[in-house]
Amino acid sequence: MLIYELDQTSLSNLLKEWNEPTYRAKQIWQGLYQHLYDSPEQFTNLPKSLRQKLAENLILSPFKVKTHLDSSDGSTRKTLFELPDKNLIEAVLMRYGDPADSPHPYPSGRGAKSRRTLCISTQAGCAMGCVFCATGQMGFKRHLTSGEIVAQVMYYARMLKEENEVVTNIVLMGMGEPFHNYDNTMTAIDRLNDRDGYNFGARRFTISTVGLVPQIRRFADEKRQVNLAISLHAADDESRAAMLPVNKKYKIDDVIEACRYYVEKTHRRITFEWALINGVNDTPEVAQKLAARLKGLLCHVNAIPLNPTLGYSGQATSRERAAAFKESLEQAGIPCTIRMRRGIDIQAGCGQLAGAVSS
Ligand code: SAH
Ligand code: SF4
Repeated sequence: MLIYELDQTSLSNLLKEWNEPTYRAKQIWQGLYQHLYDSPEQFTNLPKSLRQKLAENLILSPFKVKTHLDSSDGSTRKTLFELPDKNLIEAVLMRYGDPADSPHPYPSGRGAKSRRTLCISTQAGCAMGCVFCATGQMGFKRHLTSGEIVAQVMYYARMLKEENEVVTNIVLMGMGEPFHNYDNTMTAIDRLNDRDGYNFGARRFTISTVGLVPQIRRFADEKRQVNLAISLHAADDESRAAMLPVNKKYKIDDVIEACRYYVEKTHRRITFEWALINGVNDTPEVAQKLAARLKGLLCHVNAIPLNPTLGYSGQATSRERAAAFKESLEQAGIPCTIRMRRGIDIQAGCGQLAGAVSS
């Protein structure tokens, strides 16, 4: 079993079964999540016999690293991991700013000068079939376990530690639909959030969903501090369903209503994601339609010019049209940011993760 599947209680229980004293569980927990050890030999504070038991019974390092790709400006790294069953997943690290600019190791989110944002996967492939997304184009392989989700973070945390840096933000925007794998995703977040362990603040996570309404409501009821982003991309059902097949099941009205419920319950601002596609969803008229739908909702629109994928012929919006779209939205009272495109040259941008070795 992968060690990151265990919470503190199950680890303690396991050690009890092995007739080890309870404090050993704490030592292992600290080794894993504070010292970021990934091999039994590193646990020098444990007796050799226990290290051996760890090695025989638990997997500490679940991935084979297939490839690393660095963007030409060095700011973005994509890693392709092979899982034991040969499925491939990807995680992307984006560096913004120089850590020397930030006196505190955890600069706070938006506006901080230096960020190390990690984008992780929750599934191998995806079942949602969004037409412009490379992950959707490859289809669904399987859900990731909570441990496999955690392991992506620990891998990069370890890499950054060698450079005296830390992960500052985690976005669940890699391969897969996190709300289709709800329980494992939340278990992973809870594990990473554990105060005695990695202690990664809930507010530094952002989950992005294609708009699974029951799960949005469940998430609202759980009143988590985790940020929520909704992939909207269109302001009417017909054009949204043409891009996001899930819209046949969950209509825009239902999605927005669930979002209103979320904001009511949590008082947290919600983000709407919008891939700007030339001539499709980037006109001032569409912006006005969108603004009308979002009226009165504590939200903000994050627009990103479409990233190219093999299976979709739509083109990215030009800089000018993107600026005009933003302007129309803002005039109607909806804040909008145009997201910087990252890692396009290594197919690490949003929607470009396909797990192909050649990508
Ligand atoms: N499954 C989740 C999270 C992963 S996708 C979701 O769909 O929300 C992360 C974001 O990238 C989503 O907003 C998605 O719609 C967007 N995206 C997918 N393909 C894209 C592309 N080719 N260009 C720009 N954004 C894309
Ligand atoms: Fe899945 Fe998100 Fe891609 Fe849609 S955009 S296919 S939900 S990963």
